[in-house]
Amino acid sequence: MSEVRIVSLPGDGIGPEVTHAMQHVLEAVASRYGHELVVEEHAVGYTAYEATGTPLPDATLEAAVKGPAVFLGAVGDPRADALTGDKRPEAALLKLRSELGCFANLRPAKVDAPLAAMSALKEEIASGCDMVIVRELTGGLYYGKPRGNENGRAVNTLVYDASEVERVARVAFELAGRRRGHLMSVDKANVLEVSQLWRSVVSGLASEYPDVTLDHMLVDRAAMELVTYPAQFDVLLTENMFGDILSDEASAMCGSLGLLSSASVGGAVGLYEPVHGSAPDIAGRGIANPIGAIRSGALMLSYSFDLQAEAEAVERAVSQVLADGLRTADLVGPDKNKAVSTREFANAVAEAIA
Ligand code: NAD
Repeated sequence: MSEVRIVSLPGDGIGPEVTHAMQHVLEAVASRYGHELVVEEHAVGYTAYEATGTPLPDATLEAAVKGPAVFLGAVGDPRADALTGDKRPEAALLKLRSELGCFANLRPAKVDAPLAAMSALKEEIASGCDMVIVRELTGGLYYGKPRGNENGRAVNTLVYDASEVERVARVAFELAGRRRGHLMSVDKANVLEVSQLWRSVVSGLASEYPDVTLDHMLVDRAAMELVTYPAQFDVLLTENMFGDILSDEASAMCGSLGLLSSASVGGAVGLYEPVHGSAPDIAGRGIANPIGAIRSGALMLSYSFDLQAEAEAVERAVSQVLADGLRTADLVGPDKNKAVSTREFANAVAEAIA
């Protein structure tokens, strides 16, 4: 029996609801596949601030850096609006990400067949799309030095060195090798020297991954093709700022914010989070969509525990429950009576796994 040990940070708003739904599904995985699930829960966000005066207490950070995997529900609360600096719930999230040193951010964007009509794109364009964007997370324009803003002049610097490009590119090549075998590297090599370095480093690795076909695309064209011909993308690799923008663009085709999952990997400890926030407008009502959290749990099984069959079982179970017609309130349109609760949806996924 192997141990699946996770540090769980439910956080604020709907965070606890979707986190506990995800844990319920992981319990079903553990009992079906003979693992022991060990969950160590800690406070984060406004909930932690209220209890301890800081949104990221030392005990939470100490547990997180021990890992091996951290799951975060969501942080944020309207009562925190008056707080500033490192007292804000969102500051906890930024500190956690940087302390864990995760340099590769994975954002799957998959259009579930039963939900294709809900896409922001025309159904015939969105249907069948299933991609993962791999975004470099700890370098590039958001971190480059020098930076500053004085006397009517502001500066940010875009810097990458070859080792930073190589390590995130390897994550993307390996992922493409486990998927449909296509990697699209997105850059701006016609204008930026940094992109020319990016392109040459990525190209130089291709011979080590003979099962993966590598192509390159300029970022402006990629922005257009994501909404005109998204089905061509399998794994899309790009630098920090391009990835920030393109991953939000790609997620619009999926139908609801509640569906989207993410993983930040590369450091000793992986961080897994649904993409949505704490949704104070629906918190405490038990109606949040848990799919983004459940799929983030599947990414955790795959990346932090190398449990590929278990991760696929979770994905299959979510697809099956959607095919059976179960929908949370965000997916039913105006007739909310047709919706099931967060807990009912998670129970159905757990039963499908069992
Ligand atoms: P949000 O993602 O919380 O909500 C946006 C809209 O989507 C709301 O109408 C909400 O009800 C809906 N929604 C979100 N997740 C859903 C789900 N799982 N099921 C059904 N509906 C869902 O974004 P916001 O309203 O801009 O921000 C609220 C708070 O969350 C803020 O304090 C913000 O700073 C924080 N936030 C946190 C994170 C994070 O923890 N990673 C990310 C984004 C925003």
